[in-house]
Amino acid sequence: MKEEQKQASQEKSQVIENLEKIFFDKPETVPKKPCRTCTEFKNWTRKMTGTATKSNNNIVEAEHEKNISELKRVDCPLDSIELGRSTWSFLHTMAAYYPEQPTSKQQSEMKDFIHIFSKFYPCSWCAKHLQERLKTDVPDTRSSVTLSQWFCELHNEVNQRLGKPVFDCSKVLERWKDGWIDGSCN
Ligand SMILES: Cc1cc2nc3c(=O)[nH]c(=O)nc-3n(C[C@H](O)[C@H](O)[C@H](O)COP(=O)(O)OP(=O)(O)OC[C@H]3O[C@@H](n4cnc5c(N)ncnc54)[C@H](O)[C@@H]3O)c2cc1C
Repeated sequence: MKEEQKQASQEKSQVIENLEKIFFDKPETVPKKPCRTCTEFKNWTRKMTGTATKSNNNIVEAEHEKNISELKRVDCPLDSIELGRSTWSFLHTMAAYYPEQPTSKQQSEMKDFIHIFSKFYPCSWCAKHLQERLKTDVPDTRSSVTLSQWFCELHNEVNQRLGKPVFDCSKVLERWKDGWIDGSCN
């Protein structure tokens, strides 16, 4: 194998290894069995069909992707991506519609909700990260604006961990309540 090919192949193996770490190297307290809500659908099917190899073969990968897109239905249990997307939609929308001047009871109930949510979020290591963060960073429930910012920063931390672009938090209410300033959502 040429030196360049060898290096490309090693880099790809490393990427796959890192992804598998995210999905399968779990803390002791987390069950070892792959769970669908903790795993992207394509990785979950690999685990379930026993084809979770560190394949460097582009043809095999492309075939797998094609099979997946043909297999994917809209009325099946959620994978980690769908669950995450739906949950963020709910959390950001909830924050955007939270009162501008909440009572102290509402503030305390919202904190409780987020705390309890972190215990039951059905992607175990996503939940673990959130629980760890809540130990040092109490949700800012003083108003819909502060709560929206708090969730935006939380979401950005996850984005960064996953190598996704950071969202501009000054636009969070345009995204989740008012629609874009250019009127494109109207
Ligand atoms: C609490 C929580 C923890 C998670 N932890 C993990 C984890 O540890 N590992 C993992 O693999 N997945 C995790 N996920 C799932 C992950 O964040 C994504 O939801 C998933 O990867 C799908 O990403 P997506 O690209 O479709 O967009 P998502 O990240 O789901 O975002 C949906 C939409 O929200 C908007 N958006 C993006 N960033 C922000 C922001 N900062 N503020 C406001 N709006 C924004 C964008 O318009 C975007 O299209 C977690 C989800 C949640 C709810």
